[in-house]
Amino acid sequence: MNEKGLSEKEIFSYLENVKSEDTDYYKVLSSMCTRPHKIAVEAHRLFIEANLGDLGLFAGAHRLEREVIMMLGELLHAQSVDAQSAKIPSGKSGKGSIYGYLTTGGTESNIQAVRGMKNLVTAGEKKIVGTPNIVIPESAHFSFDKVANMMGIEVKRALLDSEFKVDISSVESLIDANTIGLVGIAGTTEFGQIDPIEKLAKLALDNELFLHIDAAFGGFVIPFLENPQPFDFKVSGVTSIAIDPHKMGLSTIPSGALLFRSPSFLDSLRVNTPYLTTKAQFTLTGTRSGASTAATYAVMKHLGREGYRKNVQYCMQLTEKLVKEARKLGFEPLIEPIMNVVALRVPNPDLVREQLLKRFGWNVSITRTPRSLRLVLMPHNTAWDIEEFLQDLKKITTE
Ligand code: PLP
Repeated sequence: MNEKGLSEKEIFSYLENVKSEDTDYYKVLSSMCTRPHKIAVEAHRLFIEANLGDLGLFAGAHRLEREVIMMLGELLHAQSVDAQSAKIPSGKSGKGSIYGYLTTGGTESNIQAVRGMKNLVTAGEKKIVGTPNIVIPESAHFSFDKVANMMGIEVKRALLDSEFKVDISSVESLIDANTIGLVGIAGTTEFGQIDPIEKLAKLALDNELFLHIDAAFGGFVIPFLENPQPFDFKVSGVTSIAIDPHKMGLSTIPSGALLFRSPSFLDSLRVNTPYLTTKAQFTLTGTRSGASTAATYAVMKHLGREGYRKNVQYCMQLTEKLVKEARKLGFEPLIEPIMNVVALRVPNPDLVREQLLKRFGWNVSITRTPRSLRLVLMPHNTAWDIEEFLQDLKKITTE
């Protein structure tokens, strides 16, 4: 650090310079995040100092958190939740039933969901001899590798079927006496596929296991599709859900959410906080952003279901256009897209990816097995972008 401070002008001239090294999402077809809605940015600014790690001091921001959780609960059909006993210490107000909290994103939500499973099993009657395990799809996000590493839990990976959904018989074959829970993905990172949640839920109920649904991406997509598949608390057996407002929810980073069917899950994450204004915390992080909470509140209230439906319709139109035009060039998707994620079969995808970036500035990514071009069509993309992208793809693959 320099001894004498720089002027605001010097700092901002440097910052603007550095910011030009960041992408502004133009030509980005690989990201599940996007530019936040402007109302989210304004709300974020307004609550910039709010710390949800100390709820008593920031009762206003905490009220917004509860309202967001209520809105998300409604979106994910959590009405069946036993609201009566869901009261948790909540700062000065102490009112209202909460069955979840706002996280920093899908990674934290997934970690906390599994931590909740482990704590509840440890406190319960089920005897685990050896290492507890969870069964997740092969397609699960790498955040579950962190779960395995952090929590001394074995993570077993079930095979996928020909459409990249988890194979139920493979899940069943991996369940043993030490299994504590299952995970299903509603909107896989690589293919945008939805696992057969109802079948997973039946397996979970039959074997008395928890079932966590990772809808970090799909949570703000599936409810707004023309024919939404069952994936949320409407499916009996689903015990927790991760959903990220900072992806298709158009909020600011960091905005994730973790919702539970039952308040006992949240209680299982309880840690006493002797020197704060509240007695307990349920979160993984201590200090938490009230700013992104206000941002999520603002954008959800402003857009409403209608606004999110339009957002999803827009992204799905781009997806359909991309697939239709790619087919004309002879490139087939690995599956008919379920949501705004396309895995395109092209010859030598790694080389094509490299060339797309080097020659034309396109950021795309690659699916692992099989290797294909992975394209995420987000609100920051346009129909014009798609046409330009396909022309560039054609140049690379025909030269
Ligand atoms: N789960 C899924 C399905 C995801 O696609 C992602 C990220 O893309 C995550 C979890 C992790 O989310 P985050 O990066 O916000 O922690």
